Amino acid sequence: MPELPEVEVTRRGLAPQLTGRTISGVAVREPRLRWPVPRDVLALAGRIVKTIRRRGKYLLLDCGDGHLILHLGMSGSLRVLPPGTPAGKHDHFDLVLGDRVLRLRDPRRFGAVLWTSGDTEAHPLLAHLGVEPLSRSLNPERLHALTRGHRTAIKHFLMDGRRIVGVGNIYAAESLFRAGINPRKQAKRLSLEHCEKLSAAIKDTLRAAIRAGGSSLRDFTGADGAAGYFQQRHWVYDRAGQKCRRCSSRIRHLQQGQRSTYYCPTCQK
Ligand SMILES: [Zn+2]
Repeated sequence: MPELPEVEVTRRGLAPQLTGRTISGVAVREPRLRWPVPRDVLALAGRIVKTIRRRGKYLLLDCGDGHLILHLGMSGSLRVLPPGTPAGKHDHFDLVLGDRVLRLRDPRRFGAVLWTSGDTEAHPLLAHLGVEPLSRSLNPERLHALTRGHRTAIKHFLMDGRRIVGVGNIYAAESLFRAGINPRKQAKRLSLEHCEKLSAAIKDTLRAAIRAGGSSLRDFTGADGAAGYFQQRHWVYDRAGQKCRRCSSRIRHLQQGQRSTYYCPTCQK
């Protein structure tokens, strides 16, 4: 499933391809995505793509009087192709921009293509998203304030998109290792010093993934837009029984709710 770093790499790859270009056509081959593709989308021709922003895992194409909202769901990917490139079975949506086509492929159809002419921050899908982890909005004081009163385990807390958006299971485990915090610690028990370490660790973890993705997905043109997790060297994730890369203790596995957690019992007291 595409995570925040993949979506950010997609945004960076697409921005120079689409920004400033005029939409010349739209093709919806399959409107039954996670939500039905609205008819408004068919009337986008003539608008100019001003910028591409990201909020959580949503891509927002600013078209001046509204935004095209794209989400990759479980299996979606976006590519830029020459016009006339034959569409495959799972190529459900095209945005034509003169000499190039932005194409959404989504075999499992959990992705989304939506339009809003209103304030994106007030959109029902975006209004309740938590703090953007790579922005200045996530800082030690904010994290400290957010965690007050929450008895839930910090690992769970990090994965709750209403608090902080886009920190999935792997990134939460890796961030907690970098910060030296046990995943079972109650969120409300984090000190400001913990929050300094954790806030920095979340940003470092996500940025490392973006760098890994940026080097493996340099080109969105024609490439078979590989969606998925960027393979990296993990500190703890999926390393149960192996030696900690810092202290050589054995990495432990822990089931928290439905999710697997990995941590070093020595580094993460
Ligand atoms: Zn260790």
